[in-house]
Amino acid sequence: MKAYVDKETCIGCENCVNECPELFEMEDDGLAVGKDLEISDDLMDSANSALDACPVEAISIK
Ligand code: SF4
Repeated sequence: MKAYVDKETCIGCENCVNECPELFEMEDDGLAVGKDLEISDDLMDSANSALDACPVEAISIK
C-alpha cells in the first residue's frame, strides 16, 4: 500500500506532512505529494492519521 494525494483537490494545508512526514512531503507548487514508499506496518497508524487530518479528503491509501 502507498499514500497518494489528489493534487486537483489538495489545498496545501500541510496537515498530512505534519501528521506523517515519512510518507508525505510538500512540493514547490505548494501542494502535497505522497512519497513513493510502501507503507510499513508501523507507519500505518500515522498514515491513517494523515488521511483523517486532510480537510478536503485528497488523500487515498491503496
Ligand atoms: S492534508 Fe490534504 S489538503 Fe492538506 S496538504 Fe495534505 S493532501 Fe493537501
